[in-house]
Amino acid sequence: MAEPKLTGVMGAPVGHSLSPLIHCYWIKKYELQAEYIPLPVLPEQLTEALHSLKFLGFCGVNLTIPHKEKAYTQMKWLSPSAQAIGAVNTVKVEADGTLTGDNTDAQGYLLNLQQDLGQPERYFDQTVILGAGGAARAIVFALKQAGAKNIYICNRTLEKAQALADAFDVNVIAWQNRQEQMRHTSLLVNTTSLGMQGKAALDIDLSEFPQSGAVSDIVYRPKLTQLLRQAQMRGCRTSSGLGMLLYQAVPAFESWFGVRPQVDESLVRLLEEQLEQ
Ligand code: NAP
Repeated sequence: MAEPKLTGVMGAPVGHSLSPLIHCYWIKKYELQAEYIPLPVLPEQLTEALHSLKFLGFCGVNLTIPHKEKAYTQMKWLSPSAQAIGAVNTVKVEADGTLTGDNTDAQGYLLNLQQDLGQPERYFDQTVILGAGGAARAIVFALKQAGAKNIYICNRTLEKAQALADAFDVNVIAWQNRQEQMRHTSLLVNTTSLGMQGKAALDIDLSEFPQSGAVSDIVYRPKLTQLLRQAQMRGCRTSSGLGMLLYQAVPAFESWFGVRPQVDESLVRLLEEQLEQ
């Protein structure tokens, strides 16, 4: 019998990661001879750990906090999205042992938006992105690629909003002015950690947000955030963070195993159950 293909996720900590659940589900579904395992790796061990992958028989790994930026410098080749975002979340060990890096967050975000909104470009006139962290960077890149116009970054720390806006040639709104912008917005995206279980709530009122608009929240604990609940009560289309988490795994799995996996109902339910625990 052939040796199983090895994959996994490197992080510190890594126990919270939902990636093993997703990839192991697909490995079983597609009857692959493969394993996907959590790999606790400290920041100071990352370089050595990455370059050991080929000797240990791994065909690739995912990277989570805090490794995504540091791994960037260790790759022989970087995909255009990894270059634009400045971070790597998917590593492939090529046949000659070299490491190539991709960032699937942007693609995953767009795949999920298509799934949830049908034709997301209908909402691309005026986009407000709350937050300017790592996830916001992937989302600005994704939305620009997909043709969104008039993108505004709105972040508590103005300098970070400005740096992100300069990098992608988009606009900035001061955090304290977010409320008055709502009535002019067609797509609102929350990329801050506000609204996440255990964090403060996102203080925003959607009563003047157009009912024809859409709201996307990348926070996935809980699945239905207060922001999404508010948007649904107003009759707006919504897109959840759980979908982004699932769809960013699709291109990673395909790059290692050559099978494009499906995000099916049972997998969504499995994740929802896990998040409820
Ligand atoms: P990050 O780089 O640490 O950025 C955090 C962002 O939240 C920053 O813009 C920060 O503003 C803002 N923020 C934090 N506390 C705040 C507060 N009290 N008031 C106003 N703004 C606040 O984190 P990240 O990696 O971008 O992730 C952000 C969120 O997205 C997390 O909840 C993460 O779980 C989620 N996420 C989801 C997915 C998915 O697949 N669904 C993928 C990636 C991330 P400052 O700049 O002012 O600090």
